[in-house]
Amino acid sequence: MKSVTVPRINGDRLWADLMALGEIGFAPGCGVTRTALSDADLAGREWLVGKFREAGLEVRTDAACNVIGRLGSGPSGMGLVALGSHLDTVPQGGKFDGMLGVLAALECVRTIRGAGIQLPWHLEVINFTDEEAAHNAGTVGSRAMMGDLSDGELEKSLKEGRPSFAEDLRKAGKDPARIGEARRDPAEFSCYLELHIEQGARLESQGVQIGAVTAIVGIYRYLVTVEGEPAHAGTTPMTLRNDALVKAAPLFTLLPEWVKARDPEMVGTIGQVELFPGATNVVPGRCRFVVEVRSQRTADMIYLREVLKAYAARREGWRVETILEKEGTPCAEPLILAIADAAAAEGLSCIRMPSGAGHDAQSLAAAGVPTGMIFVPCRRGVSHSPEEWIEPAQAAHGCQVLLRTLLELRDRA
Ligand SMILES: [Zn+2]
Repeated sequence: MKSVTVPRINGDRLWADLMALGEIGFAPGCGVTRTALSDADLAGREWLVGKFREAGLEVRTDAACNVIGRLGSGPSGMGLVALGSHLDTVPQGGKFDGMLGVLAALECVRTIRGAGIQLPWHLEVINFTDEEAAHNAGTVGSRAMMGDLSDGELEKSLKEGRPSFAEDLRKAGKDPARIGEARRDPAEFSCYLELHIEQGARLESQGVQIGAVTAIVGIYRYLVTVEGEPAHAGTTPMTLRNDALVKAAPLFTLLPEWVKARDPEMVGTIGQVELFPGATNVVPGRCRFVVEVRSQRTADMIYLREVLKAYAARREGWRVETILEKEGTPCAEPLILAIADAAAAEGLSCIRMPSGAGHDAQSLAAAGVPTGMIFVPCRRGVSHSPEEWIEPAQAAHGCQVLLRTLLELRDRA
């Protein structure tokens, strides 16, 4: 394959952006907390809009609060290539998960404009809203854009007393009843590319610089509620208790056994448990937790769901509600190849690998948009933590591969 001439991205400028954005919502020892549509997230978006405008992008915020920067190119009938990721974080998260994809895309735009390159399609850089499931199922913005929200999910908050996505969207100045207006025809997109930190240790442990993602894992999530009866912790004898936590507890160790027995590559997690009323001197009257399983294989996730449902059905006071059932999604082979070629042309080592984490890319891929993902290693594979870290050179490598992939696609178009 003949390599095209590709200008160099400015790694210092990209790093300065990452560090500047990483100050918004940062607290010493606690990392970055910029959960979707929180005040910190809104401040981050405002900062991004300023950066987009500076770079010459036309900016709009759609009905799902996705921030879209557009570099128009020629007649309106041309195709569209989108680059993106998310600026929202988990509580006490890092400075790279999501941010790298958006800011590297911005850096690509600056480099393209700086070099006077004309693209044969319109280019969009998108910051998708609530990738990290601050309210309910996550990847809300990208699914809204692809018309893949389920009924009532915007009104449902996973944590009692916390605002729902709909409430927070209203606070951000958008009408949740009009979220349908964020929907776009997947056919509008020639392709979608996302650069992201790996959030695992495979690249680092193998000393590889770039991952060309082959597929994104499927995620099934269920909200399980176990009802007991609240009672005084001092005066209620053990024999007269209906303790919701004690009823729920065996499942916490059963789930990993079920998962391991089914498929060594599947993972299952209970990462959120709530007790009600949640006081040290009250026997828990209700226990609520989220069961999550992830696999490339839909059949394995369905199997786990059925085992969980059967377990709950045999017990008194158990209820299982579906939060999310998202299938594993393959990336587009031509884009996987383009990414691998781009890495090789940049003299960077590259392997093909699946993604065990969910991403906005999945929403677009599931809707039929040809999708490619580029991974760069992160220190010890740690993510969703204040300890999340990448080196400036790793950010620059990812960004340069993103730009080269884009320009290789231009020459193949
Ligand atoms: Zn992410």
